[in-house]
Amino acid sequence: MSKEKAIATPSKTKEYLNKYGFSFKKSLGQNFIIDVNILKNILKVAGVTEDIGVIEIGPGMGALTEQLAIFADRVIAFEIDQRLETILQDTLADYDNITIVFQDALRSDLNAMIQQHFEPDQTIKLVANLPYYVTTPIIMHLLMAELPLESITVMIQKEVAERMAAQPNSKSYGSLSIAVQYYTEAVNALNVPKTAFMPQPNVDSAVLHLTYRKTPPVNVTDEVFFFDFVKASFAQRRKTLRNNLARYFKADYDKETIEQKLKLVELNGDRRAESLTMEEFARLANIFYQK
Ligand code: SAM
Repeated sequence: MSKEKAIATPSKTKEYLNKYGFSFKKSLGQNFIIDVNILKNILKVAGVTEDIGVIEIGPGMGALTEQLAIFADRVIAFEIDQRLETILQDTLADYDNITIVFQDALRSDLNAMIQQHFEPDQTIKLVANLPYYVTTPIIMHLLMAELPLESITVMIQKEVAERMAAQPNSKSYGSLSIAVQYYTEAVNALNVPKTAFMPQPNVDSAVLHLTYRKTPPVNVTDEVFFFDFVKASFAQRRKTLRNNLARYFKADYDKETIEQKLKLVELNGDRRAESLTMEEFARLANIFYQK
């Protein structure tokens, strides 16, 4: 496919906007990519090859969908905005390996779709330029839904990508870093300028690559308790671990008991949550889980 024919150019995008009188809906996070080189880099980060099955969320006018259709085996894309149906029929008319499902990705049965459209042993990756207003709910949904996906490669708000991939002792490290990295290995792969989009968003973007782990990196007695515990530890970032825990457990444990539990796992209560590794959080949460 020649570069001139790609949908992801300013002139092609404008041409389709005018042809169909399409107006962007900010509330749906509609910022379309107009730079085909960036799309090719996203495919490279994702490791898309001709045998791969791809799930896409939010095809928009089909800019990324087209590149996926060229380089992957098959693409299933979920789009919430029914107004795009006629446009997508036109822009993607040359490809017979794309299925577009007009549904909210958060309410779709992705597992059923995967079983229906892909081979049982096929490697499946999720690749998307996500609508920024629901980035975190979509990613957390994908991580917790136990889908047979190998990886997730998504263009998202740069600040959120940094938080998801952050390591301890950094400004961006928090409960979101722990939640994402419990399920995946996270790499913040690529920064993308605002000029790559139409219309230009107010925020900078980055491509985040998440590879699902086969098993969690730490042993946690109760996952729900663990994630709540981590959130509570970060409740007031500037306060010590001891203070955040005293607040969270005030109905359950007095200060001495909290101190004893910290001692049992050899953690100093003066530390701040942002200095704790996931392994330290797991050890501490497991001790607090025991009554
Ligand atoms: N993939 C296109 C591109 O890169 O040019 C468009 C990306 S645009 C940032 C996000 C797309 O997601 C829009 O087409 C929007 O309508 C769609 N969208 C928003 N919320 C959605 C949801 N909950 N489920 C599925 N699609 C959604």
